[in-house]
Amino acid sequence: MGVLSFILQDVFPQLCIGCGCMIPSDNALCKACETKIAFMEEDSLEMIEFKAKCALIFNEETEVYALFKFEKGGVGQKLIHALKYKNRPIIGFHLSYFVSEKIRFKTPISAIVPIPLHSKKLKKRGYNQLDIFSKNLSKILQCDYFPEGLVRISDSRAQAGRSKWDREMRQEKSRFSSELSRDVYGKILLVDDVFTTGNTLSDAYYTLHLAGFKNISILTIASDI
Ligand SMILES: [Zn+2]
Repeated sequence: MGVLSFILQDVFPQLCIGCGCMIPSDNALCKACETKIAFMEEDSLEMIEFKAKCALIFNEETEVYALFKFEKGGVGQKLIHALKYKNRPIIGFHLSYFVSEKIRFKTPISAIVPIPLHSKKLKKRGYNQLDIFSKNLSKILQCDYFPEGLVRISDSRAQAGRSKWDREMRQEKSRFSSELSRDVYGKILLVDDVFTTGNTLSDAYYTLHLAGFKNISILTIASDI
C-alpha cells in the first residue's frame, strides 16, 4: 500500500460493500464477502439456463457470458447497487479483474461497447456505471474501447417482439443508435450490468447487427433470470 493510500485510508476508511466491516481503501469487499459472490461456473445449471434464454434472443452462434448470479440481498446485488448509485469506481476495477480471472472468451475480443445511459440520466448520475469496468477490461484484454459506440436515443422500453424477426422489424423502435465506426472489425463485446429480460441487450445487439456488425458477443456482469 502506498503512503498516500495509507493516509487516505486513515482519513476515509472504506467499508466492505457486503458486510460493512472496515477494509483497505483500495478494496470493495472483505475477503469473506468476496467468497460469497455466486460466480457462474461454465457447466452450472444457472449458466445452462442463461445460455438457453440467450439462444431465444440472439443468433445461435452468439457467445454469451455472465460473471455471477444476481441473488436478492446477496453480495453481487450489493456490488451492482453500489456500482450504479454510490459512485465507487474501485468496484468497476474489481469486477473487470473478476472477469479476467473467471471468464475465458472463446474468441479474442477486438472492441468493447457498453450499454449507454440516456444523456439526461448521465447528467443526473454523473457517470456511466459501466465505464470504468469496460475501460479497464479493454486494457486487460488489450482491445479497443468505444464508450460511445452506441447512443441511447430514447429511455422508454421498446416492446419485446415474439421472435427474432419481430425484433428486427421493430428496430425502428430501438432505444439505441449505432455510432460505431465502420473501421471497427473483429469481435465486439457488448457489455451490460444486469441481464433480466434481455430487452436492453437485445435492442443494442440488433441495432449494431443492422448497422453491419454481425460479430458480437454478450457479457453481463450479473444474470437475474
Ligand atoms: Zn465483507
